[in-house]
Amino acid sequence: MPQKTSETPMMQQYQAIKDQYPDAFLFYRIGDFYELFYDDAIKGAQLLELTLTARNKNADDPIPMAGVPHHAAASYIDILVDQGYKVAICEQVEDPKLAVGMVKREVVQLVTPGTTMDIKAGAAKSNNYLAAVLALPSGYAFAYTDLTTGELKVTTLPSRFAVQNELAALSSKEIVIDPALSEDDQAAFKQGDRLLSVQPDTGAQAEASYVAQDLADADQVAVVERLMQYLLITQKRGLAHIQKAVAYQPSAFLEMDQDARANLDILSNSRTGKKADTLLWLLDETKTAMGGRLLKQWLERPLIDMVAINRRQQQVQALLDHFFERSELQERLTKVYDLERLAGRVAFGTVNGRDLIQLQTSLDQIPAVQDILLRFEDDSLTSLEKAIDPVSDIANLIRRAIEPEAPISVTEGNLILRGYNEKLDNYRDVMANSKQWLAELEASEREATGIHNLKIRYNKVFGYYIEVTKGQLANVPEGRYERKQTLTNAERFITPELKEKETLILEAEESATTLEYTLFQEIREQVKAQIERLQKLAAQIATLDVLQSFAVVAENQHYVRPVMHAGTHALDIKNGRHPVVEKVLGEQQYIPNDVVMDDNVDMLLITGPNMSGKSTYMRQLALIVVMAQIGSFVPADQADLPVFDQIFTRIGAADDLASGQSTFMVEMLEANAALSHATASSLILFDEIGRGTATYDGMALAQAIIEYLHDHVHAKTLFSTHYHELTGLETTLDKLQNVHVGAVEEHGNLVFLHKMLAGPADKSYGIHVAKLAGLPDDLLTRADSILSDLEGDQDVTTPHVAAVQVEETQPEDSQVEEETGQLDLFEPEPVQQNKSNPVLKKLSQFDLLTATPMDAMNLIYHLQKQL
Ligand code: ADP
Repeated sequence: MPQKTSETPMMQQYQAIKDQYPDAFLFYRIGDFYELFYDDAIKGAQLLELTLTARNKNADDPIPMAGVPHHAAASYIDILVDQGYKVAICEQVEDPKLAVGMVKREVVQLVTPGTTMDIKAGAAKSNNYLAAVLALPSGYAFAYTDLTTGELKVTTLPSRFAVQNELAALSSKEIVIDPALSEDDQAAFKQGDRLLSVQPDTGAQAEASYVAQDLADADQVAVVERLMQYLLITQKRGLAHIQKAVAYQPSAFLEMDQDARANLDILSNSRTGKKADTLLWLLDETKTAMGGRLLKQWLERPLIDMVAINRRQQQVQALLDHFFERSELQERLTKVYDLERLAGRVAFGTVNGRDLIQLQTSLDQIPAVQDILLRFEDDSLTSLEKAIDPVSDIANLIRRAIEPEAPISVTEGNLILRGYNEKLDNYRDVMANSKQWLAELEASEREATGIHNLKIRYNKVFGYYIEVTKGQLANVPEGRYERKQTLTNAERFITPELKEKETLILEAEESATTLEYTLFQEIREQVKAQIERLQKLAAQIATLDVLQSFAVVAENQHYVRPVMHAGTHALDIKNGRHPVVEKVLGEQQYIPNDVVMDDNVDMLLITGPNMSGKSTYMRQLALIVVMAQIGSFVPADQADLPVFDQIFTRIGAADDLASGQSTFMVEMLEANAALSHATASSLILFDEIGRGTATYDGMALAQAIIEYLHDHVHAKTLFSTHYHELTGLETTLDKLQNVHVGAVEEHGNLVFLHKMLAGPADKSYGIHVAKLAGLPDDLLTRADSILSDLEGDQDVTTPHVAAVQVEETQPEDSQVEEETGQLDLFEPEPVQQNKSNPVLKKLSQFDLLTATPMDAMNLIYHLQKQL
């Protein structure tokens, strides 16, 4: 904005401040308004639906202007920040009455998407994370904090991909970066409109030295320092509630990349973007906002430490077994407010009397919570109880000091209880006595003058006065009463005695209010000194809340405690259910399924028609694993599980196919993530890999991927495919097993049973459906024979298909290798030749429509005997 010569000193001041915040809306305080000028005003008027006016309307260069009243500013700031903008709040920092010349103004806070303290209704159970990244010679230092709760974590990540995963997992809206961060990195981290805030190194370490004191890694210290520098520059105040940074390793938790999280609908539903129909939605029976946030954090980082998993599960078991104690506990938890965010506001200096009463109410529940915990008589809960510090000193302080019905304002009195401070009580006595004195004066004046309706009143302009109605004016004692104001029906008088008292009363009132504010600040400081204890307590309460939530869900949904084992990757789930689909469909409607993969089975190859339940089955396994590893019970009759280290998924929605090539690229990228990072302890879900490209191309890739995973990765893998030909791989890959989804014909309809059965699926569902639709018999027979021919052709490209049936039907001790002659069987041959060969004749007559897989195997067994 070019400087204009006609500018007033105020606009010059505005411009000087605005120049320091070019990328923020500047809310410039003038009296009771925050004004926006120039482009800020034009854009702000649009975004906030304000009236755009102008300063110096009649001048040649009127300045666009828009304003919001100061008392409503918070909601306007919120709207802008919510849309990803920054807002610099510029206040008058001296009393305009005392100012010589221009009133001094300063930006007192820069509100940004990652630092907003204003928590909207509905967001209580979510964190608002501000992240920071520094590029290292190899990899990145990464930190994040939630300014509202003071949580601060730091790690070192090996790749850009890993940083993206963390950013996605945290749903962080803003990220602090170094000016030198490469453009490629910036583009990658910006993904989805995340705000990048450039923060050069200011060298400031003071604030960071406390929070970074437990960190050993210099790079981690550096990124934490940068984050703190940004917070100081934007917030411009003490940040006593920011906790000591905790270093973490993503690999110390069950890792899921952002695709896996999205595919499994863990925190947000991939179709709607909402919480409904997610694992979080299902498991959230938490009573407190802190519990709600912790549940989300647990879902973001399931455990891999068996001891910790078992401890949580044991706690859930105890809570489940004692219904009455659990109900009492829940009742107490309901009364606990957001301790973490209250502590944050204490540090921030924005806490008021009501907040402190909330803090006290919350703390008052803790001794009862401790009692209840002991009554469970369970070691896992007793040890939790032992670690609890109820912070009763703070509860007592607030109980003694703060008025339970405290007003919102902290500067207008009526905040501090009687008995807390002697001086304050004295002022109040003066005020109370004076009121008494005024009442007595009213009575004695009435008597002395004989004016029975004489009144002593107060207003802001005249202070205390005596009011006499027109009809009684004759009785006013001249000389003693001094006339102050004449109204239509009455006149108002003062006396020297009254004015003297008034001075006393007003002085006492003012002193009392000032003293109350001072006392309140002192109390706030005392609470602030205990923030660390409050935060620790908040974490314990949150944990307890999530555990009771698991117990409630386990009880309502009939879940079981999974048994976790070490040493082997075998898994055995009896009657497992997809928790979310089951809840949506109803328990009666959902068909449970086993998942059994012992040490001899690494991969289940799942075949079956569309919509039969393949991907539900795959997701079901992953969700059960996630639930088990956060400590929850699981939807099954019985579950025996290893601890997984990572989950990879490629689960496409049906309509993914529409977008063609790019989708296939995504498919391959997701596949590659699994192929390159999975270990034998990982879980891989691949749904219809390869269908995004041409049939043979896709099938070839699918087979190669299966072989690679089988031979090199050894992860537990569920692989669904509509390439029926791949089922033949069972012969060559000894740890691969075929399963399929069953279907039956019922009243002329093909009904999917949603039941997983052993072996590959029937090949001819399509023709079956056509038959049900009433297509002519001749046509169907022809389709059958074409199918057989095609299968003959394809089998040449995938010899395993021939092999599978051989092995399946051979007695155990037979030598498959010696039987390779049967490959010729499927060599493409002229049709006439088919007819003359008795084996082929039988084969072509075989009725695939009615045959079961077993029938087919039997046939082939017999055919082989004839060769
Ligand atoms: P596919 O992956 O084979 O195309 P889906 O797994 O998407 O099929 O399942 C299709 C629909 O079938 C789901 O939306 C669900 O409503 C239903 N379904 C799947 N599995 C079950 C089950 N075990 N019990 C009941 N309904 C199921």
